Amino acid sequence: MSARRVYLDHNATTPLRPQVRAALLETLERLGGNPSSVHAAGRAARHLLDQARERTAAALAVHEDELVFTSGGTESNHLALLGALAAATARAGAAGAGLVTTAVEHASVLGPARHLAATGHPLEIAGVDGQARIDPAEVVARALRCRARLVSVMAANNEVGTLGPLSGLGAALAELAPDLRPLLHTDAVQALGRVSIDLRGWGVDLASFSGHKLGGPVGVGLLYHRRGVPLDPLWWGGEQEDGLRPGTENVAGAVATSLAVELAVAERGTFAARLRELEGWMWSSLADALPGTQLIGPPLGSPERLPGTLNVLLPDADGKVLVTRLDLEGLEASAGSACASGSLEPSHVLRAMGRDERQARAGLRLSLGRSTTWEDARQAVDILVRTCGGARARR
Ligand code: PLP
Repeated sequence: MSARRVYLDHNATTPLRPQVRAALLETLERLGGNPSSVHAAGRAARHLLDQARERTAAALAVHEDELVFTSGGTESNHLALLGALAAATARAGAAGAGLVTTAVEHASVLGPARHLAATGHPLEIAGVDGQARIDPAEVVARALRCRARLVSVMAANNEVGTLGPLSGLGAALAELAPDLRPLLHTDAVQALGRVSIDLRGWGVDLASFSGHKLGGPVGVGLLYHRRGVPLDPLWWGGEQEDGLRPGTENVAGAVATSLAVELAVAERGTFAARLRELEGWMWSSLADALPGTQLIGPPLGSPERLPGTLNVLLPDADGKVLVTRLDLEGLEASAGSACASGSLEPSHVLRAMGRDERQARAGLRLSLGRSTTWEDARQAVDILVRTCGGARARR
């Protein structure tokens, strides 16, 4: 067993960046008031919150009043799905307004989607091909079939790294007559900082982000909602966040997250290039050393693939058994998505991609991040080859 550990689970969460940690601690120490209070301490907190929103909006090329700070990606997805359909039902009298999403979304989209279906909203779930690619034409056809008021398609898949067809989908939806055109939401939690995000160009109405996937603190997220998009809150009783998210604001979390977003956007090009180099080397080394290993999703380097997410099928491996054995050897990776990894369910993403149950349990996700070094990459490959090659030799 090696003493030095390698962390390759950055899609689950990635370490807090030192500058972000400093901003978080400094704000916590400095902050004495509630942003809703009118005295000087309250006004100082309000100023910090306003600044954080302005900086985030500038980094994402949107308006400040289009951003809501939330508790994370999960809440942002809930606010988008439940809030948009509640508003459509209340304002347009669109009782039973439909929703379209895809079979490979994160549980925090599929969960509220199923809840909406159980409460009378027609739900259509678009499939994917063998590389987890979504067909915009299928999404549009399903939207028309269920008279959808909202379409939710992820920008980047957290398990296999396939990118969503946002610009093509936005263009296809824009061609529909206004009374048939649903709003477009994207879960961009994994995409931000690793691929270019063009909310306006894509024609997106709502988009979810999460701080802790970017080197920000856990427990802070963002929802972009285009000006004029009707959205109801999930909770009532306070006017914070323009009435869309009542409750005293997490000012230090917002300040830290705004810095994480700024840095992620500014450094995206160089970061993505480094991830591609590291994962390219890891994949070719693994494929050479362990013949029969399969790469899940689009080819490496393809424009349809998120940099830094390697999902591999090692011959005869069970993902969760393998994850435990790798952990003992010092390599931290995951099978499927972190939220589901406590259960023994096969990955719903791999199942949707046409993989059988055995394969859907065997996919190993190695996700790279800012702290990943060449030494990590080499050590990870050594551990994988030792663990999997050894297992095959014993068979
Ligand atoms: N959406 C995607 C694609 C994710 O990968 C995750 C987290 O794994 C989430 C949403 C949930 O984000 P959070 O952990 O901030 O609630």
